Amino acid sequence: RIVYVNGDYVPEADATVSVFDRGFLMADGVYEVTSVLGGKLIDFDGHAVRLKRSLDALDMAEPMSKDALLEIHRELVIRNDLTDGMIYLQVTRGAPADRDFAFPGPDVAPTVVLFTQSKPGMAEAPAAKTGISVISIPDIRWGRRDIKTVQLLYPSMGKMMAKAAGADDAWMVEDGFVTEGTSNNAYIVKGDKIITRGLSTDILHGITRAAVLRFAREAQMQVEERNFTIEEAQDADEAFITSASTFVMPVVEIDGAAVGAGTPGRVAKRLREIYLEESRKAAV
Ligand code: PMP
Repeated sequence: RIVYVNGDYVPEADATVSVFDRGFLMADGVYEVTSVLGGKLIDFDGHAVRLKRSLDALDMAEPMSKDALLEIHRELVIRNDLTDGMIYLQVTRGAPADRDFAFPGPDVAPTVVLFTQSKPGMAEAPAAKTGISVISIPDIRWGRRDIKTVQLLYPSMGKMMAKAAGADDAWMVEDGFVTEGTSNNAYIVKGDKIITRGLSTDILHGITRAAVLRFAREAQMQVEERNFTIEEAQDADEAFITSASTFVMPVVEIDGAAVGAGTPGRVAKRLREIYLEESRKAAV
């Protein structure tokens, strides 16, 4: 695999980052994951805009223009012969001469790393046919979940808690309400209404969420942005998650209770189809 590190395209075995990198020492960095379908980037613009937002929120300079970033994404697709999969992008505050809590000055350049992950046939994931199960866990993350930082220890622990419980993923709960999944946004469906938590600093502003809600509204489906509880989700007609890597994925079980008929719901299936069709059309 050929990866990108600070201006160079190199075989992954030759790619290096300093041990003083603040991403490594302090999780002082942000990331994006963009899907690739048929060799084309899904919603690159959305990811570029959110990257800028994350960088701004942490007082980090943009390492390069959006066009330059797009060029690297495309180059990696070509060099790795990527058809379906993801491109991971990480920008950290770079590697100062020594470990220090204070941010380094402008002389320290950010570290920019991009790599591909091949996932042949990812749009036809078998899980989309069966749906996934989730457990609920308390949301004990920090207060700026809208910034896409590489601080992923708790989400990682959440996935392990799910695994230990025999489930596929976890939904996090704060003050009695679902915030989001460990690496995805959470939704329920009641009748014809799609319900998902509104945007705030409590959750990541999913790029897939924005697209799916837009497509839903364009298809005259009802969308309500509000909080919901695990109990309401268990009683809902359907549940699902969205993310750049899973698109729209039905959730059929929450804390051991079947949602609806315990099979992927009509709305989630339709949204998955619309999302894949429309985003393939707009891919660059
Ligand atoms: N919430 C969290 C906590 C996430 O990590 C992700 C995936 N990065 C999402 C939501 C979904 O965001 P997106 O649709 O942009 O992948």
